[in-house]
Amino acid sequence: MSLAGLLPQPPYPWLAPVWEGFSRQVAQDRLPHAVLLVGQSGVGTFDLAKAMAQFLLCVSPYPGRSCGQCRSCLLLQADSHPDLHWVVPEEGAQSIKIAQIREMTEFTHNTAQQGGRKLIILSPAEAMNANSANALLKSLEEPSGNCVYLLVSEQPAFLMATIRSRCSRLQIRTPDFSEALQWLERNRVADAERLLQAAGGRPLRVMEWLANDLWGQRGQVREELSKLLAGSSNFLDCAKALLGFGGVWVVEQLQTWVAAAVRVNAAGSVDDDAFVMVLARAPLRRLMHFNETLCTKKRLLLSTANPNPQLLLEEMMMELKELSRKSD
Ligand SMILES: [Zn+2]
Repeated sequence: MSLAGLLPQPPYPWLAPVWEGFSRQVAQDRLPHAVLLVGQSGVGTFDLAKAMAQFLLCVSPYPGRSCGQCRSCLLLQADSHPDLHWVVPEEGAQSIKIAQIREMTEFTHNTAQQGGRKLIILSPAEAMNANSANALLKSLEEPSGNCVYLLVSEQPAFLMATIRSRCSRLQIRTPDFSEALQWLERNRVADAERLLQAAGGRPLRVMEWLANDLWGQRGQVREELSKLLAGSSNFLDCAKALLGFGGVWVVEQLQTWVAAAVRVNAAGSVDDDAFVMVLARAPLRRLMHFNETLCTKKRLLLSTANPNPQLLLEEMMMELKELSRKSD
């Protein structure tokens, strides 16, 4: 066995401390039956859940890491492990439906096919509506012996308190900027610093942008917003133009620009993004308020309340336009 086989195995280096705590719990046989993994999107929380599942299902794990070679590990890597059950919104849907939770409950009653544990990964947990959440709660309250639930959440405040209290919370930190930058550079990402800055320090968000060519789309969004601020389009046209990019995506881009504008405004510094400099002319108080608005709208867009994205975008564009208003 090589030395590498004895090292811990978090999917990303900044997850090492969390992984260490987790594998210690497993080694001491005191892993809770339900874990709530809380972290921002783009920092690897979902991949961490998958690595935890692999470790828990591995037939011949090394200390702190799965073997990567047994039947279980291979099945998991092929996304076809019969004892791992995914609960994620169906394609095109925002929410996790009660039928999916019922299916999951069935799964908990079955015998593990590989003879070991059974794993459930539910993500994002805040995508459950009240019915789904209640059904899950029932399942959590009557745990079947060898079943482990891994719930992934970016916004745990939107989970039912009774679900939160049934889970052991695992907080995933966003890596330090320098740590994330190093990782991106090791992965040969060009212009890594600018991208990471724009992604709010979240390295996997950068990778996602690059993989899906979203960086170019970000430029288009910036262009539409610049037109609005320059007065060459109105907030209704702007919202309409942005709708095709997806409400949540647009809000996330805006959040990074507003955060940069707050930095510039507060520190009196300079940003090489002209759009950020225009935003930074707004009073700090209004920028902060706009940032809060963006958080609220994003929450609404992610909620199961069936919001109207165009209306929400229009409201945001109206406030954005007002940012540069001279008087109060
Ligand atoms: Zn294995």
